[in-house]
Amino acid sequence: MLNFTVGPVMSDERVLEIASHSSPYFRTPEFSTLMKENEALMLRFLSAPAGSRCVFLTSSGTGAMESLVMNILNDRDKVLVVNGGSFGQRFAELCRLHKRNMTEIKLDYGHALRREQLEPFAGCGYTALLINMHETSSGVLYDMPMISSFCKEQGILLLVDAISAFLADELDMTALGAAAVITGSQKALAVQPGISVVALAPAALERVAANEEVCMYLSLKEALKNAERGQTPFTPAVTTLLQIHARLKQIEADGGPAAERQKIAGVARQLRAGIADLPLTNISESPSNAVTALHPENVPATEIIRVLKDEYRIWACPNGGAMADKVFRIGHIGHITEQDNQTLIDALHDMKNRGLL
Ligand SMILES: *Cc1c(COP(=O)(O)O)cnc(C)c1O
Repeated sequence: MLNFTVGPVMSDERVLEIASHSSPYFRTPEFSTLMKENEALMLRFLSAPAGSRCVFLTSSGTGAMESLVMNILNDRDKVLVVNGGSFGQRFAELCRLHKRNMTEIKLDYGHALRREQLEPFAGCGYTALLINMHETSSGVLYDMPMISSFCKEQGILLLVDAISAFLADELDMTALGAAAVITGSQKALAVQPGISVVALAPAALERVAANEEVCMYLSLKEALKNAERGQTPFTPAVTTLLQIHARLKQIEADGGPAAERQKIAGVARQLRAGIADLPLTNISESPSNAVTALHPENVPATEIIRVLKDEYRIWACPNGGAMADKVFRIGHIGHITEQDNQTLIDALHDMKNRGLL
């Protein structure tokens, strides 16, 4: 099967080879050294400010989202959540679950956030803003420099879910003044699922240290304490961490995150150009490099997903809820070759010729 979803995605040979071995024992100096390198490489790739730290949680990306809400925020915070789709919705639900004083900025599906939509919240005592830099469900990449200036002007802590944006779109933690940035192993890192990554600038580290402990498994205090010696509090997804190490080293050798981003942008460009003549409308007002969200004009999206899977051995990414029949997505992250892209482009044209698109 060719996989054009947005995670888990396809991995390269080197990463696959690592998964063919048993996980090594991890309470060793060797594993600690590898973890220290993982932390240093992640902080460098994120352009994190001096004094930042990075920890690796054994959880899906949602675990990292929840860790921000539990460990950095507290019940005295006044929180803004940008909700432009299912991942923004998830931040809002996490805030409600953990009883945070939260206001949602709801966006129409596929639309970007504009400065005028933030303006009503200026000078109202907000202390933190949670945003999914790339709302993966609609393919919208938010204007992070604009959001960052608003947060800086207002003295608001900026917490960024970059789970599907890391490596795919430009991300500079220092320039944004982001207090925290999270990502996950199964998106553009392109290794198996199981690890989420939490990078914390000094402003967030202070929060974590000062806040009361409210959980054990997702405690950032515990994760940070253990990471000082290159360890994790509990048994981690060891093999996924080895794969992350191999990928980060490879990206470094190949020219760093900018080169990786160019590669992903090229995959997106090729696909978008290849399907431009088909009755598929890109619904995102400001598309990311990671995903193209498409509205089929003639047939239900669910049917396209099914035919691609059953007749062409290709996974595309369905949308949930109200959008299930209206939108499907094509991912550009992971180990996708030019030939793979062409296979999908040809399949969609074949479907058009058969009257299935
Ligand atoms: C994939 C993703 C997540 C996390 O999803 P999990 O299934 O928990 O790994 C969170 N936010 C965004 C923007 C994502 O793309």
